[in-house]
Amino acid sequence: MGHPPDLTALADEWLRGVIRFGFVPGVRARARASLQDLLEEVVAALRAEPFDPVVGRRVGAELVDLRMSSPPVLGMTVRLLAERLPALIETEPARVPALLETLVTGFVTAQRDAVVGAAEQMNRSEKIHWRRVQNDLQRQLQDALLHDPATGLPNEQHLRRHLAGLTGRVGFCLLGIDRYAELADTLGHDNVAKLLIAVAHRLDGDHYLAHVGFNEFALVVESTGIDDVVKLADRCRRVLGPAFPLDGHALHIDITAGIVEERADANADHWLRDARLALGWARHDHRDHAVFEPGRAEVDRRRHRLAASLPAALANGEFLAHYQPLYRLADRAIIGVEALARWQRPDGLLGPPEFITLAEHTGMIRPLGRYLLEQACRQGVRWRQAGHDLLISVNLSPLQLGEPTLVADIADILHRVGLPAAALQLEITESAALDQGYEALQKLADLGVRLALDDFGTGYSSLAVLSWLPVASAKLAAEFITDAGAPAVTEVLRHTIGLCHALDVRVTAEGIETADQERLLRDLGCDSGQGFHFGRPVPAAAITQRLGIDRDW
Ligand code: C2E
Ligand code: MG
Ligand code: MG
Repeated sequence: MGHPPDLTALADEWLRGVIRFGFVPGVRARARASLQDLLEEVVAALRAEPFDPVVGRRVGAELVDLRMSSPPVLGMTVRLLAERLPALIETEPARVPALLETLVTGFVTAQRDAVVGAAEQMNRSEKIHWRRVQNDLQRQLQDALLHDPATGLPNEQHLRRHLAGLTGRVGFCLLGIDRYAELADTLGHDNVAKLLIAVAHRLDGDHYLAHVGFNEFALVVESTGIDDVVKLADRCRRVLGPAFPLDGHALHIDITAGIVEERADANADHWLRDARLALGWARHDHRDHAVFEPGRAEVDRRRHRLAASLPAALANGEFLAHYQPLYRLADRAIIGVEALARWQRPDGLLGPPEFITLAEHTGMIRPLGRYLLEQACRQGVRWRQAGHDLLISVNLSPLQLGEPTLVADIADILHRVGLPAAALQLEITESAALDQGYEALQKLADLGVRLALDDFGTGYSSLAVLSWLPVASAKLAAEFITDAGAPAVTEVLRHTIGLCHALDVRVTAEGIETADQERLLRDLGCDSGQGFHFGRPVPAAAITQRLGIDRDW
């Protein structure tokens, strides 16, 4: 979080407002200093983690103490702070209304306490007046709390109430301005505010419209079916299509929509959550809208739960490698194994597609990758001790490849477990290899480990890459092997294998599933192969058995 904002200008404006509504008691400079202090307190509370709106109570009471206690002063204060604070706090703007609500409560309570004594002496008309003042105040506050200060549209709280009151089928369409953070950075606060107002104007129609979050607008309509809601979203996107004139420029914005179409129910909380989820799907899939589906949401939730449980699972030793044998095609000897990550959960065994991406997104891939690498190296040592010099092939995530300590980590692991570097092969994808460039790979190669390009042939510049990266082998992607028999594919394979050999790169075929494929690849000169035809990935013990080793060696 950045520096505390300069609150001088806002304190001045606040004081001017107070003066406009009447008498400021005592010395003006002192009043101004008090207001600035209060502002600082409010802003500090808004920026604090965790956020606790309770400070508002003290500030409200303080205003009464300062005798800035006339209701119009409070109304002005609430409006001013609701308008200005969101831009100053660099955090969730929804905090502002929450804090203002406690501020008013604090004010009203202090004011009531202050007049309790006096009330005894109030006459009837004074009491009526006081009650009316209080009601006005509540109404002003309600208004400020239920509308977005920038656009004046109903805000999230208003939206919830609106939804809670509906019956029948409801179409809910959440429109998000894409790349909003970037826009806000380049446009600046004032222009963003202008943009949001202009967007609100264009969207205004005969449907319920709310402004939620920073950059989202919600439309609620009676629905006669999902198609209508999708059409509404399209219409909105068209309306927002033409450029917005801003500061002498023509600004285009992109809009993505998240859509929920359901029967109205008492629980209004899920609409926004579900629509945001759908909006996220649309962005993820590069589509202009997505419709909420409970099934996909459940998948998402499961993924979140899985991601959250990764660290504990790693600490509990729930991860392990299965090993798939690697055969030399010339004589069908097992020359190595590929270590493939598995996650043993109480409810079953998960494969890499279910957790590697999660681990990459959460950064857990680094410790997880290191752990698996060490397990595989240890297993390699056990097999060597039993007389089998298997090549241990381990997959590296692109993220691991970018890690500055990778080379040192691998050297350390090899040293500790006692595996010769030449017995370790690291599999990297072509795109990761290209991203990292020559130097990172050369350092690994210098260590003496072998580098293999995984899923070879699925990238762009396959053959060119081979000529200048320090790789020892290429693993032909299973896609090619499946169609290996088709004449055109056979020819491509023949040339690819020939070129690899010319560059002194060994070739492994992945995904060999049939005896025909095995024969063909052997005839094409492919060096080694792996696939279900030879054996599926299995626990280390099963490989040990296959190698004919007594388990108790
Ligand atoms: P990969 O490195 O290309 O591994 C080969 C995948 O193909 C494995 O899937 C393997 O089980 C599967 N496979 C092997 N033979 C056949 C076959 O004959 N037919 C078919 N259809 N499939 C076959 P798996 O174990 O699900 O792994 C998927 C991918 O996950 C791997 O692709 C690799 O990229 C990644 N992965 C696995 N373990 C790790 C790991 O420890 N770290 C990282 N970063 N990635 C890993
Ligand atoms: Mg691999
Ligand atoms: Mg592969």
